[in-house]
This record gives sequence, C-alpha cells and structure tokens, in this order.
Amino acid sequence: MRFVVDGMLGGLAHWLRMLGYETEYDAKMDDNTLLEHSRLNDTFLLTRDEELYKRARSRSIASVLVLGETEEIRLAQLARDLGIGLDIDMASTRCPECSSRLREISRDEASESVPAASLKLYERFWRCGGCGKTYWVGSHWKKIRETLEEARNISKRNEHTKC
Ligand SMILES: [Zn+2]
Repeated sequence: MRFVVDGMLGGLAHWLRMLGYETEYDAKMDDNTLLEHSRLNDTFLLTRDEELYKRARSRSIASVLVLGETEEIRLAQLARDLGIGLDIDMASTRCPECSSRLREISRDEASESVPAASLKLYERFWRCGGCGKTYWVGSHWKKIRETLEEARNISKRNEHTKC
C-alpha cells in the first residue's frame, strides 16, 4: 500500500513513512496534481478536503477522507479503514523526511553524524539512502511508542462500537 497525502497531512505522512509505507507529500501539490499522482502511481489519496475526496471518488481513485484532529485518531482511522499496521519495524521503516529506505550502519559510520553522547548510549544506527540523515532509537521514541499505542487503543475501541 502506497500513499499520497494532501498539504494538510504532512504530519501523517511522517507517521506513515515510519510505519514503512511509501508516502508522497509535497505541500505545493495542488488538487489536480494530487489526483493525477494517485491515478498514475496507483496510490491511496489521503485528504482532509471533502471536495477533493468527492472528485477522487467520482474518478474511481482510491481515497480516504481523513477526519480526526490528532495523529492518533488519524492513524486509528487508517488502521480501521485500510488495515495499516501500527507497529514500527526498523527493517522496513522509511525516512520520515523523504520516504526513502534506511540501511543499518556501523557505529563507526554513525560517528560522523551522531553526537558522542548518543553514540555511547545506543547500539544501532540507520542511515537514509535518500537524504543521508542518520537515525537511532533514542529517548524521543518514548513519545513515538505512546502515540502508536494510543492509536491502537482507539482503533480497538472503534472495532467494538462497530459490532
Ligand atoms: Zn531521508
């Protein structure tokens, strides 16, 4: 499953990439470009614009109208509607900035771009094949895990209310 998101969903694009989904996001893409991109590349169009959503549907372009106000609710909606997974697997995660794949690098390689304190604290490092940014599972992952757990809880609650 691949996605293209509208200019209002930049935050969601970052999450989808971290979850391993190839996601196109460029705040400058207008509605026609988004529709064309989705049709040509066979990607799901995610939008907060009801008008754009209706245009996509009328052209048989797979689209979801994203309703929630928080990333947790939006992710839960996509888990429910499209069955996306809400766990990050470092083997398939993508760069949140550019959607390219990451590859694991040695501590030596990482030492060029990772602060000494983090280099000491953490074991594993990854580099983006596109923009070259280096990643590690640092302290900010507490917040990432909490967000995903909340999204999983919301999607479970929604399943129950549906029954
Ligand atoms: Zn990148």
